[in-house]
Amino acid sequence: MTTVEVKNLRKSYDDFLALDGVSLTAETGQLVTLLGPSGCGKSTTLRCLAGFHEPNGGDILVDGESILNVPSNRRKFGVVFQNYALFPHMTVAENIGYGLRLQKRSKGEIETRVFDVMKLVRLTGLEDRLPREISGGQQQRVALARALVLKPRLLLLDEPLANLDARLRDEVRWLIRDLQQQSGITAFYVTHDQSEAMAMSDMVAVMKAGRVAQFATPREIYQKP
Ligand code: ADP
Ligand code: ADP
Repeated sequence: MTTVEVKNLRKSYDDFLALDGVSLTAETGQLVTLLGPSGCGKSTTLRCLAGFHEPNGGDILVDGESILNVPSNRRKFGVVFQNYALFPHMTVAENIGYGLRLQKRSKGEIETRVFDVMKLVRLTGLEDRLPREISGGQQQRVALARALVLKPRLLLLDEPLANLDARLRDEVRWLIRDLQQQSGITAFYVTHDQSEAMAMSDMVAVMKAGRVAQFATPREIYQKP
């Protein structure tokens, strides 16, 4: 189980205030979407969660404990970011197993876990391909598998569909939602696409100029325009 409480988060880049007191929560198993136009602070919020950025104020509690002093590689979060590329010289299976190798898992365990997660994201058979030898949708599923194989306590997805055409977008979107619901993993999902947010979220944080303007279920957001 993983609950997250983001409290009054503030973040400046030089003298520009990108986050002006962002507060939101995620209950165990929920997918919470950050929705809003380019520049409203969605990615900055996610990067603070991931530990790539240090906020200037506020707090982030995971299961009731602050994680601000926990380095990013100790947070046990799965991260799928747009510009978080696959290793081009490694095969699909090597890319997915990379984190497990860093953890010095046994060869047998790595093989089993990579095999299982590849089946889950429907990549079986592509083990020995290089990233450039597979489609954009398949690459995105490799990135998802690479995050999921580490059994993260929280999944952070920043516009994971951005580089895909419309058909692949649908396919990968429902795959993400299926896997997220089946595994009961708590997730934050960044998008500027309103229909995407409405279709797949448990909760939506509508962001505007570094603040959360509305935090509600998709149904509530439809009813109160
Ligand atoms: P979003 O993800 O909603 O598009 P971001 O969180 O990326 O928004 O950015 C919020 C604001 O902070 C934007 O105005 C952006 O230009 C600015 N910003 C983001 N990253 C940096 C950075 N590294 N240096 C300076 N300004 C930044
Ligand atoms: P996203 O698509 O996630 O919102 P952007 O395309 O806005 O990201 O930004 C891409 C990269 O550029 C990020 O690393 C972000 O931190 C950085 N960046 C964004 N805005 C600025 C800015 N105004 N000044 C400097 N760096 C920025």
